[in-house]
Amino acid sequence: QAQIYTRYKTMKNEWRSYVALGRSGIAGFGLYAKKDINMNQMVTEYVGEIIRSEVCEIREKKYAQKNKGIYMFRIDSEFVIDATMCGNMARYINHSCDPNCVTQIVNIDNTKKIVIFANRPIRAGEELTYDYQFELEDTKDKIPCLCGAPNCVKWMN
Ligand SMILES: [Zn+2]
Repeated sequence: QAQIYTRYKTMKNEWRSYVALGRSGIAGFGLYAKKDINMNQMVTEYVGEIIRSEVCEIREKKYAQKNKGIYMFRIDSEFVIDATMCGNMARYINHSCDPNCVTQIVNIDNTKKIVIFANRPIRAGEELTYDYQFELEDTKDKIPCLCGAPNCVKWMN
């Protein structure tokens, strides 16, 4: 745990030197590796405001009415991180069915943090992705997946 804390502090100081925003090869904007990143390295944190699920539902409707891009990350059944108004660049990381990053919840100073780790070595210039793990739903509001991976399941939900 002490080691995680140290690695987290280092990442918070250095993450801007690891990643850059750019036009995505998948959709809209994306986040790219500025330099080679080692497997298991902490890359960045998904920063935002921790809110309850009920608040999330209300905000989603409000943002949709204002045509705002919605950036949320579900921590568990109770809590969501809302990065729409106060996020960092991590909110631009796209989904892939064959991702090079994974997300993990770590406890820092008794607060849950969403940390993005490399799940394999990443070369400078590669787009960063993780699996959004949306629930598979039988709905009309299917979101197509454009990740381009050979194993792509074609839909994000
Ligand atoms: Zn895909």
